[in-house]
Amino acid sequence: MDASSLKYPVQVDLENCAKEPIHIIGKSQAHGVLVVCDRTNLNITQAGENASEYFGIPVDELLGKPLSYLLKMPFLAPGFDEDSLPQEVEVNRKKFLVLAHISEESLVLDFEPLAQVQDPFFFQKHLTGILNKFQAARSLEELSSEAAKLTRKMFGYDRVMIYRFDEEWNGEVIAETKNDDLESWLGLRYPATDIPQQSRKMFLKHRVRIIANVHYRPVPLKPEISPVTGKPLDISRSSLRAVSPIHIEYLKNMGVGASLSAAIVVKGKLWGLIACHHQAEKHLDFYQRESCRFLAQMLSTEITLHETSSFLSHSEQTESIRRQLVAQMKYHDNIVEALSRDTVQFLELLNCSGGAIFYINEWELNGQTPGKEQLDSLLNNFIKKQSKSLFWTRNLSALFPEAEEYKKTASGLFSLKISDDKYILWFKPEVLQAVTWGGNPQNKVFYNEEEQRLSPRKSFEKWSEKLTGFSEPWHELDRNTARTLRENISHVLLTRQRREIEALNEKLIEANRELELFSYGLSHDLRAPVRGMEGFLKILREDFSKPLGSEGLKYLEMSAGLTQKMNDLIDDILEYSRLGHIERVEKHEVDTTAMLKEIFGLFNLTANFPSARIEIQEDLPPMWGNRRMLFQLWSNLLNNALKYSSEKEAPVIEVGKTRINGRSTFYVKDNGIGVDPALREKIFETFQRGVGSKFKGTGIGLAIVKRIVEKHEGEIWVESEPGEGSVFYFYLEPQK
Ligand code: ADP
Repeated sequence: MDASSLKYPVQVDLENCAKEPIHIIGKSQAHGVLVVCDRTNLNITQAGENASEYFGIPVDELLGKPLSYLLKMPFLAPGFDEDSLPQEVEVNRKKFLVLAHISEESLVLDFEPLAQVQDPFFFQKHLTGILNKFQAARSLEELSSEAAKLTRKMFGYDRVMIYRFDEEWNGEVIAETKNDDLESWLGLRYPATDIPQQSRKMFLKHRVRIIANVHYRPVPLKPEISPVTGKPLDISRSSLRAVSPIHIEYLKNMGVGASLSAAIVVKGKLWGLIACHHQAEKHLDFYQRESCRFLAQMLSTEITLHETSSFLSHSEQTESIRRQLVAQMKYHDNIVEALSRDTVQFLELLNCSGGAIFYINEWELNGQTPGKEQLDSLLNNFIKKQSKSLFWTRNLSALFPEAEEYKKTASGLFSLKISDDKYILWFKPEVLQAVTWGGNPQNKVFYNEEEQRLSPRKSFEKWSEKLTGFSEPWHELDRNTARTLRENISHVLLTRQRREIEALNEKLIEANRELELFSYGLSHDLRAPVRGMEGFLKILREDFSKPLGSEGLKYLEMSAGLTQKMNDLIDDILEYSRLGHIERVEKHEVDTTAMLKEIFGLFNLTANFPSARIEIQEDLPPMWGNRRMLFQLWSNLLNNALKYSSEKEAPVIEVGKTRINGRSTFYVKDNGIGVDPALREKIFETFQRGVGSKFKGTGIGLAIVKRIVEKHEGEIWVESEPGEGSVFYFYLEPQK
């Protein structure tokens, strides 16, 4: 949303103006007669009280009579919800043009006297000339002024204006042609409330509206309520429909005697009006009104073309600037440099006089901008508080009073948030405008004591207001361009981040590989001295036990235990590293049950784990893999199961197979100490132990298991209830 809605002086915006039920004002204008029939039998149900004036028949005489009583000739009624062509009829030797339409259950007939026979083809004859003139216009101004001239020439009003709405529905007279004695209203602006929303809606629907004589006395329909529906009749489609008294008074105050307005509709939206004023009364017949509607339509089409082509050429320009910026971003490492210090700069993207990039705590300023401190405050105290990433205003100081200080350079602000610490801002300078209102907009309405209702302002003296703190507006194209730029920048930043992460990852892998090589080398080199130590300890035990004494022997045994531990560690590290270097695993079918039995045999259960009960599921399927590795895998898992349940009174180890997610999965279950949930992933990493020194171990066993499972393209995980036991599950890639 544009937050910069023009700040007009506070309106006396009385509800009545905008809510007047103008479509059911049960009265007509006086330049014709309304006759209403029941649409099922064409009996007259309502008629204008001026019937006798035009037909010579009093209204009471007409009511209840068939339509043929009035029209002594056949009449072609329109079908449901469709207008019939106008028909020329005679009543008491007077000629009328009848326009008929259906409104709910009624047939509504507008009788307009045909004073003189108009040439219905007058307009068509001028068509080519009009088209040529429209097409020759090189700018919107020329086109509007041409349209005003043509309208005046064809319909002869004293003043013809082209009135254009802005984004907030304020109007401006952008072209005018008039009688010399009239004061010019060109450039005058009118507040949105002068043509309230519901009137704009009516214009969009009915397109052309005439008021033949503002001094007319509204003619009531008799009876006021439709006897067919029991409700007031909706006569919004009748061209004779009376005018809102407020509007009539408004016109009178302007010194207008008659008016004609035709809607200019661009892309389905009310763009403006061809507004014609006449000092005396003036009526246009149906054919003329149709011509005017057509003229407005032609003008609408031409305006659409003008707007579209200027939009296209402008958007082509910005598009090529944006593409160049993207190319620059790809070329430069530094985004800020790419956007602000190369051939094309981000400033050129939007029509502005200065811009700033905030990039991780640094400001980069280009062109005319507020100072860095001012920008800090603007960013932190205003821009960051906006909920959307795109924000624009043409009247910053009205929203952020501090900006009054720098309104000369930055009355217009357009901000684009890329991320929390990256913003791009564009600024437009203040343009001092003398806005001339058609009458003081503050005096829109006042309470008319005499008539006991609201009246529009009396004074239409030109009323000038100097607008300060305003810049030229931002446009829809700016918003689209900024959005695309944000996508481009995010894309470039993301690609960069991804590349950085990839590079970092590679470095990590390399470092890891080096570390493994180092530990492999170290372990390998430690092996010989440890073996040496083992040998010497053995000699000490065998040949020098006596002088050592019992105390000395105890220390000797402890040293032997520690050397054993070192040996185990070295073996495990070497095994782990060795596995890492294997590229391709040679696989064979391996008999699972036989392998398990062999392993348990080696554990010497009766001596080492006398109370453990082992349950192996029968008919375990064979495995597909490297025998040596699988042997190691099972040994480690089973050893852990026995080790970590050894303190239980009745340890039970179960080995079996189950199906999980459609995969044949082996498991080793024990009723031991269980695994802390926080460590469930960690225990598969090297040197990660979940227990103290109570249980012997190197902390590498499960890391080796995991490597083996991965070499077999499988997965391993643990489920456990601390204190209750653990289940280790794993599956391997089945034989292909
Ligand atoms: P360790 O040599 O310490 O047993 P592992 O790599 O084999 O090294 O195991 C890592 C850790 O996982 C162990 O220190 C232990 O805390 C936990 N762990 C492994 N198996 C079991 C099990 N069956 N029951 C309980 N905890 C286990």
